[in-house]
Amino acid sequence: MTLLTFRFAPSPNGDLHLGHAYSALLNQKLADAAGGRMLLRIEDIDTTRCTPQFEAGMLADLKWLGFGWEEPVRRQSEHFPEYEAVLDRLIREDLVYPAFMSRGEVRAFITDSEQRGRDWPRDPDGVPLYPPADKALPAKERKRRMADNAPFAWRLDVDAAMARVSEDLAWNEFTDETLSATRPVAARPQDWGDVIVARRDIPTSYHIAVVVDDASQGISHVVRGQDLFSATGVQRLLQQLLGLPEPAYFHHRLILGPDGRKLSKSLGDMGLAALRDAGASPDDVRRMIGV
Ligand code: GLU
Repeated sequence: MTLLTFRFAPSPNGDLHLGHAYSALLNQKLADAAGGRMLLRIEDIDTTRCTPQFEAGMLADLKWLGFGWEEPVRRQSEHFPEYEAVLDRLIREDLVYPAFMSRGEVRAFITDSEQRGRDWPRDPDGVPLYPPADKALPAKERKRRMADNAPFAWRLDVDAAMARVSEDLAWNEFTDETLSATRPVAARPQDWGDVIVARRDIPTSYHIAVVVDDASQGISHVVRGQDLFSATGVQRLLQQLLGLPEPAYFHHRLILGPDGRKLSKSLGDMGLAALRDAGASPDDVRRMIGV
């Protein structure tokens, strides 16, 4: 039997809070129950917002909490060439295009279109979809702008990508924490429009890095927060395009703040370091989040 493999994949761009503690400890509980592996991945592709200080704080908080992981830790910033190879492949296969519009231009385009009475579609996070103009640019014009050093991001041509994969693109989602049964969920990457797959300053994106890493680390079970549920559609699409294995998913409940909203890394009082400094024990934390 192959070993089940779980991962916890935080981004060191702030302090860990109760939501992270829940995710880490739930993964650990499930890995232990299955006699499986528990891996840790540091998602630090955003090298301006992610710092070694945050990473050190994060590792200290996880140790204090009693979360144990297999060494070595995988650090995404040490794997840029692997992500770039994937981007090159998507470029060669004409599945991505350079998108030149600045944020201001996108906003102006959408305001203009909405003033003319057309609701502009938004992604599951409420962000307006990228306008279609750049996808239609003639190759010569694209080359000219790139040669002129115009700023751009690589975006996935989601329609072209969907045309390459099986029509009933879906993922297997566990029905509950016992991980005993799954149900198929239809993947709807088109709800996100043409997502960014690489930026000029960061030659990859969350989606590319996560699918490459889940495959390289042999992750069989992706257990993460409900806030990433719809993003899974984009990741399934990339896995199919790239011929990567398909993990099963469980998107767990989110720990909410006293105001009923999702915790953010700036919410100091829900931060693990702040709780520890205020005298809380790891068991107190477990009781607070019920794991
Ligand atoms: N790095 C992401 C985060 O901290 C998690 C990504 C994932 O689990 O797929 O929200």
